Amino acid sequence: MRHLTAWRDWRGWVPAECPGCGLRMAGQGLCPACAGALAMDPGLPRCAVCMHPLAAGRCPDCAPAAPAYDRIIAAFDYRDLGRELVQAYKIRCRLSLADVLADRMACAVRGAWAAGADVPRWIVPVPARRLALRQRGFSPPAEIARLLAPRLGLACRLTAVRRLRDGRKQAALGRADRLEAQAGLYACDGPRDRRGLSGAWRRPAADLAGARIAVVDDVLTTGATMHAVAMALKAAGAGSVEGWVLARAVRHGAGPRS
Ligand SMILES: [Zn+2]
Ligand SMILES: [Zn+2]
Repeated sequence: MRHLTAWRDWRGWVPAECPGCGLRMAGQGLCPACAGALAMDPGLPRCAVCMHPLAAGRCPDCAPAAPAYDRIIAAFDYRDLGRELVQAYKIRCRLSLADVLADRMACAVRGAWAAGADVPRWIVPVPARRLALRQRGFSPPAEIARLLAPRLGLACRLTAVRRLRDGRKQAALGRADRLEAQAGLYACDGPRDRRGLSGAWRRPAADLAGARIAVVDDVLTTGATMHAVAMALKAAGAGSVEGWVLARAVRHGAGPRS
């Protein structure tokens, strides 16, 4: 662990530019002004399950049907600086942002733990679409999960959940279509187990019984992906599933400034 501590020390004093505003300062990460701009408004009432701001006391994502995940922890809202950072990381592939973003998520999770949230047994990233992985060369949720695990002292199972097929790209779909497109897309114990192939695929399911699992993703939009992954984990025996996302998308009309 000594090299890890040394790396953290190094990140604390080597001058760098704030990825939000370009301000030159000592240490890596966001400047205080950008960190403040990213913080969620504590006065805004939010859904206790998915963190969406409540519109007239009602959650647009959980009201139609309760999701399979038990709760969401989001580091920030997907708007303004939050959207810029996630897009730079995910779309423009600025992999150097992964550390800053993992720091933000670790901070949000520690806040939830301090408020009484339970600690999961291990964390797992939402698996990437194969085509997206080939185009980007990395999986944004997996990279965050990998960096988050040592920050929180948790184990990370990068391949515990897998995609059974690539499915349609979701960006242009509405909530109902997303739910349909994601249904049955993920599994923890798939055809490989049924064919009798042992090893890595089987191990995660074995210690899932009743366990609390945290699933890491970059953006929570309608929650359809998180719902589908939580369904797969619970079908394999998980007792509860939390979604840890960098950014929570806010539906038009539900936020303080939309
Ligand atoms: Zn800044
Ligand atoms: Zn909700």
